[in-house]
Amino acid sequence: MSGNQLQGIGMTSQRTRDRLINRLIEEGVSDQRVLEVIRNTPRHLFMDEAMASRAYEDTALPIGHGQTISQPYIVARMTEILLQPVVPSKVLEIGSGSGYQAAVLAQLVDQVYSVERINHLLSQARQRLQQLKLFNVHFRLGDGYQGWPKQAPFDAIILTAAPEHVPKQLVQQLAMGGRMILPVGSGLQQRLVVVTRTDSGYEEEYLDEVSFVPMIKGQD
Ligand code: SAH
Repeated sequence: MSGNQLQGIGMTSQRTRDRLINRLIEEGVSDQRVLEVIRNTPRHLFMDEAMASRAYEDTALPIGHGQTISQPYIVARMTEILLQPVVPSKVLEIGSGSGYQAAVLAQLVDQVYSVERINHLLSQARQRLQQLKLFNVHFRLGDGYQGWPKQAPFDAIILTAAPEHVPKQLVQQLAMGGRMILPVGSGLQQRLVVVTRTDSGYEEEYLDEVSFVPMIKGQD
């Protein structure tokens, strides 16, 4: 890949990216590690060229198959929550989509495992991460409701599609003290929930209202 493609020109230039970072700060994102990674991650490479001019707007964008690349603010917010109170080392993501959230995580944690149910999206995501030389992301085609039992336990789990209820099977793949962040609810409005695994079961904390695509059972 050429330097120009990575750095971006015009609407994907560093100045455009810096504007996005300023906006995220205004919206309350404060973790410098997260802001720095988002500043340096070429989001325009995670979508079709036709859409790339909008890559640094703070908005979700279509990536085909009725799916979207998440809004940068949501990526930043969920990632900064995930890094608290300690940076997790092994993270499971459900819903690889474009691969953007996985690319952000890959620059902050040791190993990322990401499950996607749509093969075409998965292979595109895999290619992008290789281009960016982020070799610590492991992809798998499958139903995210099953998690990735062979690799469990995880220090953290992030869902980027919304189930109606907290999936118990995923809670069981959390290490003791591990945390899962996910949107929960039906329809277009959900709540962000942080689940912490404890000795006696798990605790839930409800945060902001969000809007994610629904989590769908089974492989495509
Ligand atoms: N993290 C992605 C967001 C993609 S949108 C990004 O940064 O671009 C959510 C993704 O979840 C979609 O690609 C959708 O296909 C996937 N998905 C929905 N239900 C799923 C399931 N049960 N298992 C795995 N992936 C699922």
